[in-house]
Amino acid sequence: MNMVTVLNQEDMQTASDYVNNVYEKILSRNPGESEFHQAVKEIFDSLVPVFARHPKYAEAGILERIAEPERMITFRVPWVDDLGKVHVNRGFRVQFNSAIGPYKGGLRFHPSVNTSIIKFLGFEQILKNSLTGQPIGGGKGGADFDPKGKSDHEIMRFCQSFMTELAKHIGPDTDVPAGDIGVGGREIGYLFGQYRKIRGGYEAGVLTGKGLGYGGSLARTEATGYGTVYFVEEMLQDHGHTFHGSTVVVSGSGNVSIYAIEKALELGARVVACSDSNGYIYDENGINLETVKLIKEVQRARISDYINYHPEAQYTEGWQGIWSIPCDIALPCATQNEIDEAAANTLVLNGVKAIGEGANMPSTLEAIKIFLNNKVMFAPAKAGNAGGVAVSALEMAQNSMRYGWTFEEVDSKLNNIMVNIYRESVKAAEEYGNPGNLVVGANIAGFIKVADAMLAQGII
Ligand code: NDP
Repeated sequence: MNMVTVLNQEDMQTASDYVNNVYEKILSRNPGESEFHQAVKEIFDSLVPVFARHPKYAEAGILERIAEPERMITFRVPWVDDLGKVHVNRGFRVQFNSAIGPYKGGLRFHPSVNTSIIKFLGFEQILKNSLTGQPIGGGKGGADFDPKGKSDHEIMRFCQSFMTELAKHIGPDTDVPAGDIGVGGREIGYLFGQYRKIRGGYEAGVLTGKGLGYGGSLARTEATGYGTVYFVEEMLQDHGHTFHGSTVVVSGSGNVSIYAIEKALELGARVVACSDSNGYIYDENGINLETVKLIKEVQRARISDYINYHPEAQYTEGWQGIWSIPCDIALPCATQNEIDEAAANTLVLNGVKAIGEGANMPSTLEAIKIFLNNKVMFAPAKAGNAGGVAVSALEMAQNSMRYGWTFEEVDSKLNNIMVNIYRESVKAAEEYGNPGNLVVGANIAGFIKVADAMLAQGII
């Protein structure tokens, strides 16, 4: 058993002053970037005990350096729609930290994308990637492009224009993007095709989430959702619970949600609700996953169509209401800040036992506090949803070997990685005086490896 270490109060105060001082500078140097501030705040607060015990990190200015991206690229993405009209979107790529490996992180296409969102995602990605135990640095990118309602040809032309610029900045050993909101297999295919045409060589490892016929990995599509459920199951079992027989609510109905639902069902849970950005469906007997897949993956339609196939289910406009459905386990898998203080209080009042964050930063700082104060088991995103990037790194490994593992091999490596992340997070939380707090544990476990690599490599 690990000993809980009591840290000296004076050292804690010095460390806290250092962390707050750096945080204030970040606020003033990055005005208006509320999502980035939120991600920095959560991580910085967790790291106080680390700086208290190891002043060497403060002396080397690790915090000031880690919160400043190595590079932030923005670019024009012009494209022509099916009617011949010209549109211009803004493309982004943040190359945040490459101390332990090439930049790695997804691309998001959504109208809300801006510098703040890309930087919060990129900053979180540094520690998440470190937690996987694989040699990948942190990056993220995307565009303020709305794929909804666009034809396949419009999506293709947008992806080609986006990649024409992005190709100058990425490569299998420098920066390896993947999918995120609005970027799935179809988009990765178009992006890869354009990259290949520009480079003139077959650099399969430049993107992950590729199709199985051209360098993709089995189980990558399922990885984030499955990984979240593997992590949560480990956490539940550690506390004498399990998915089996539990009632589960999953927000979203995209890539992460669908495969979180699939694995939860396989483990014997009853999943009663899921959503999209318009509203949510509820079926007390359990939703039918094949119908959700048909609507979202094949038809690219709205979740409201579900009741055409299952009239016994209910559809409600407005996705926020999903958190008022009583459940044992809530898996937010849609987007950032989808669980606020009010939603967290409702979940607690309704007796929720565990939260597993499949999306990135889906709970506000206030919501996290409510869960922790009420002893709700809480799996934070950077640990719980690390399965996607972990299998992306396995895809890179297979591309380098020019060899592919079976679904079972990849899935079993994924399961091991998630269990390992859970254990490492529990251990770090205990070692730094916050037993049971996986937010703190995941941040510390992810941070130390990157900080040590930065120390070893000098002030760069
Ligand atoms: P998808 O685009 O496949 O699905 C997103 C889902 O969330 C859709 O149902 C979408 O509804 C809904 N959604 C998106 N934005 C909002 C919003 N502002 N309000 C309400 N609902 C919304 O994305 P993914 O499943 O890939 O990603 C979901 C989350 O998981 C994101 O936070 C992402 O960063 C995170 N993640 C994804 C990984 C991956 O491997 N894909 C890896 C790690 C984290 P609609 O269709 O109506 O837009």
